[in-house]
Amino acid sequence: MKRAEDLSVTGRAVLVRTDLNVPLDGETITDDGRIRASLPTIRDLVGRGAQVIVCAHLGRPKGDDYAARAAGGPSLRPVADRLAELLGQPVTLATDVAGESARVIAETMADGEVALLENVRFEPAETSKDDAVRGELAARLAALADLYVGDGFGAMHRKHASVYDTPQLLPHAAGQLVLAEVAVLRQLTTDPARPYVVVLGGAKVSDKLAVIGNLAGQADRLLIAGGMAYTFLAAQGHQVGASLLETEQIPHVTAVLADAAKAGVEVVLPVDHVVADRFAADAQPELVPGPDIPDGKLGLDIGPATRELFARKLADAKTVFWNGPPGVFEFPAFAAGTRAVAEAISAVTGLTVVGGGDSAAAVRHLNMPADAYTHISTGGGASLEYLEGRTLPGLAALEAGP
Ligand code: ADP
Ligand code: MG
Repeated sequence: MKRAEDLSVTGRAVLVRTDLNVPLDGETITDDGRIRASLPTIRDLVGRGAQVIVCAHLGRPKGDDYAARAAGGPSLRPVADRLAELLGQPVTLATDVAGESARVIAETMADGEVALLENVRFEPAETSKDDAVRGELAARLAALADLYVGDGFGAMHRKHASVYDTPQLLPHAAGQLVLAEVAVLRQLTTDPARPYVVVLGGAKVSDKLAVIGNLAGQADRLLIAGGMAYTFLAAQGHQVGASLLETEQIPHVTAVLADAAKAGVEVVLPVDHVVADRFAADAQPELVPGPDIPDGKLGLDIGPATRELFARKLADAKTVFWNGPPGVFEFPAFAAGTRAVAEAISAVTGLTVVGGGDSAAAVRHLNMPADAYTHISTGGGASLEYLEGRTLPGLAALEAGP
């Protein structure tokens, strides 16, 4: 992959696809880690006198067309403000993605200036399955710039117009964040020191169940918590109450468990839970001392016995990859499991990688020391797919010439 630092950018317009998909509470950014992670590449381009046009997505805009999505938001406005603060220079936010506003800004900006295009997912074409539809948006994006830099690691596993199609239309290179992420993930896939323990949690259950089979083949131990644990427990015949459950994935999970057993991979599931009647910060937490969850109750965190069990299973690890909080850490009453796992992994000497937007937010939220882990990845799905050995469309596009 060509490096952005090797492109000659002075006086040229560079479209930089970054990952600025930060968690928001209304218009307040609750964790700006992804914005910070995008700074090195933007600063380098600014410092070398490029006209820097940043493109990113935020959340999941809803609606059939551009107008409906733009009206419903979320706008990148709070992100533009935060980016400007962190860069220490103004960031002009276009009022559209690749329309008149973007065009005028791109044409009139000076060297060393930074502009941000509006939420690229306002354009339904961004995520279209139709190559021609994405291609039309990619052409409009490419027309804004002379060069393309791919630095949005968290979106690299998406075959989206701004990630996959646009780099094919411009001379392109990889930004510093993408290069750093790939370097660490490559270490995990090439002869990791053992025991290699993978901890999986979070809420994107079906996405993660799809990759779990391959991860199980690489790790020595798989600790499963969070939303996906209930599908595993259900597959073993346990009651999961009203917890997150992907019934149609049970056969797949059963097969994963059988393969793991055959390969000698230890799969560790929760043995107790913290549950509640409803999914809310002020819900009353209740301890369920065994693996079965009563009817009507939702599992929202791992219980104390599981915390202790997971800590023990991590104590001798030489390599750890952790994706997905083991509980709803955003609610203080259900954060103990995430804290316990975060602390147990920070005590490991060896390569420790935390991947995933919410997982990274969780360790910052818990105020873990800056050096607690070898690497905090900005990409959840992207890092999982990389570890699984899949070709990430965004990386493939950057690797291809010219
Ligand atoms: P990441 O972004 O790190 O890949 P996900 O997006 O998959 O992680 O999931 C993060 C979310 O998972 C968090 O917001 C957390 O509240 C939620 N979560 C964790 N455990 C549970 C659970 N038992 N039930 C529902 N949601 C959960
Ligand atoms: Mg997430």
